[in-house]
Amino acid sequence: GVVSQATRVSRRYGEGAGTRWALSDVTIGFERGKFTAIMGPSGSGKSTLMHVLAGLDAPTRGSVTLEGSELVGLNDDALTEIRRTHMGFVFQSFNLAPTLDIRENIRLPHSLSRKSAPYDEAWEAYLIETLGLQPYLAQRPSELSGGQQQRVAVARALVNKPAVVFADEPTGNLDLATGREVLQLLSTLSREQNYSVIMVTHDATAASYADRVVFLADGCISKDIPKSTAATIS
Ligand code: ADP
Ligand code: ADP
Repeated sequence: GVVSQATRVSRRYGEGAGTRWALSDVTIGFERGKFTAIMGPSGSGKSTLMHVLAGLDAPTRGSVTLEGSELVGLNDDALTEIRRTHMGFVFQSFNLAPTLDIRENIRLPHSLSRKSAPYDEAWEAYLIETLGLQPYLAQRPSELSGGQQQRVAVARALVNKPAVVFADEPTGNLDLATGREVLQLLSTLSREQNYSVIMVTHDATAASYADRVVFLADGCISKDIPKSTAATIS
């Protein structure tokens, strides 16, 4: 089913003559188990759409839901808690906590969340194994390569078993081969673990790993292209 949904969402920046509509009446839903790439020229509204879906930015008009619950109108504390427990984030710049070791970084979303749910050690072990992070657990982010740091970011994004993972140019700071590995991981994990992965990218090669490619132009959806699973694997 649909995990993340924007309905008739618009986002305006500025007032009067300086008004700009970053998003205009956008309706789009994202399903479980699907890896979607959002593409489009610079300034077309990609970041704004991702921020609105993640509750990081409030739309001027419209509705945004996560697993059927409305996010628009919730206060910052409630949104922060929902992000920590139901969403994962992977950014171009890794955003790891420099003073924490790798294991602490992976556990951070759980340590910070208010909910007292028991930590799933087996799931953590699976992520560490799948992402090849075992040798680095006691090290600091600065001791790792960019590709290794992005793998830590992926583990951290998934540790709370989020409904949706947002990836903002996740390969932007990686070499080609490492970027491919990270994309392959996101794609496999979305399918096997039934996550919805939403990735913003301007890189067509990165987008080729997605099951669906959505194009934005001037704050509107200009194309929405589903792709066959066969095309994703090649
Ligand atoms: P993209 O991610 O596709 O490059 P953005 O979502 O960042 O596009 O921006 C869409 C439009 O909204 C652009 O015209 C941009 O200048 C404008 N915009 C984005 N964020 C802000 C902001 N904080 N203040 C004013 N305008 C903004
Ligand atoms: P990039 O690495 O692609 O430049 P940023 O690191 O600037 O992206 O983050 C993009 C946006 O996401 C920013 O608006 C930032 O406030 C927000 N953000 C960054 N880290 C987190 C996080 N861990 N949880 C929620 N939002 C975050």
